[in-house]
Amino acid sequence: MSMVEINDPKIKKINEFIAKTGIKPSECLYHTWRFVKNKKMKDNGVIRVLVPKSDGIARVEYICPECGHYGYLETEWKRPFFVRCEKCKYKINVPKMREEFKREQKAEQKDENLQ
Ligand SMILES: [Zn+2]
Repeated sequence: MSMVEINDPKIKKINEFIAKTGIKPSECLYHTWRFVKNKKMKDNGVIRVLVPKSDGIARVEYICPECGHYGYLETEWKRPFFVRCEKCKYKINVPKMREEFKREQKAEQKDENLQ
């Protein structure tokens, strides 16, 4: 049995998007790249989400923690955020991380200061 790796070579569409657009971290509303849990609460899949401030659309790529399917989709960014595996329909949750929450708050404060 092989463990999923965070930098699985299948995860490349968002890399390509970043390379093509030259988008900077400060131009992102949200960006995460992390393991996601299966039904047994084991980190058995990967999700990467990038949301540019310019359009608020989430670019999502994942390796499903249940069935191992790789998928890419674009969808509206909202909290709480989740996607469904297009193959097995498993709900892949992207819970807020404490660290990301802090970063989001900081970014919001920075934006407020600029106004
Ligand atoms: Zn699946």
